[in-house]
Amino acid sequence: MPSTKNRITPEQRIYFHSELRQCPHCGTKLKRHHTAWHKYVNTLSGIYDVWNMAYACPNSECPYPGSYYRSAEADALVMKHTSYGFDVLALVGELRFKHHYTLSELHEELNRRGVVTSERNCERLYERYLTLLRASVTDHLRENLKEVVREHGGLLLSMDGIQPEKGNETLYVVREGFSGSILAAQNLKSGSAEELKQLLRPVEALGFPIIGLLSDGQHSIRLAMSGLWPEVPYQYCQYHYLKDIAKPVVELDRKLKTGIKKNLRGIRELEKQVQADPSEEATLAKDYLAAVRSVLLEDGNPPLDLPGVRVFEEAEAIRNSLKRSAKKGGSPTARNS
Ligand SMILES: [Zn+2]
Repeated sequence: MPSTKNRITPEQRIYFHSELRQCPHCGTKLKRHHTAWHKYVNTLSGIYDVWNMAYACPNSECPYPGSYYRSAEADALVMKHTSYGFDVLALVGELRFKHHYTLSELHEELNRRGVVTSERNCERLYERYLTLLRASVTDHLRENLKEVVREHGGLLLSMDGIQPEKGNETLYVVREGFSGSILAAQNLKSGSAEELKQLLRPVEALGFPIIGLLSDGQHSIRLAMSGLWPEVPYQYCQYHYLKDIAKPVVELDRKLKTGIKKNLRGIRELEKQVQADPSEEATLAKDYLAAVRSVLLEDGNPPLDLPGVRVFEEAEAIRNSLKRSAKKGGSPTARNS
């Protein structure tokens, strides 16, 4: 769980590099050029000393020698002009907007989670959240993007989803990489590729050339982006920051799995009971017991595929199946379950 003590000093220094390795215009390997920005970022999983390194094309013949490529993943971590992570912002929005927390409750909750802040700042964060949700392709933004296209030969699009609390909505944000502009932001429950495509439609409607697509590893984001721009090269963000954010969830999941396994241990006794029984009911019971055994071996692939959740779902499927057969007149195990 997140620590309750206030944190001031960063836990880790992270260097982010351009996700693009080659120049999108001439294919030359990009070279590290300068530090685009550097700051301490307050996130729900701690404070990080974040460095975003800009890269440039070293080819003197390149049509766009003045273009710098930053890390989209680093830009997606923190809002411009603040030191708070987007995960903090998303949490503030969710608690205030959906759960109607007062500013003082918000302040208390953030501090409880180790995010050092003031009530006044909670208010500011909430205002930023509301501004973020209003992001759209306005006439003004269209003019700015036109300028980006003229200067860099096209737009660099990135998209990512931030889920401050497991099981709740995910805040999806679409950005343009050269300008750092936010083109769209929306809370979505499912975040299917179709829904995400809708979020990208206004960007597609601009008709500007897109020279790169970037995102974290989420499958539906990739489907949505590659679906709209199948010809544009697609890059994953390299530093799997998500893994750090997901740590508390993985920890809880491990406990869930251990608990369920303990509850399922009783099957050894049942196995002994039905072992020598040749009846149809006993055969059925043996099948169920085998299914339970295989559930105990599940280990998933955290953090995206959580083993505890998986064991839970499968144990539940077996239980429902047992209930159904109990109704039909059922087996000895059904009565025991
Ligand atoms: Zn180049």
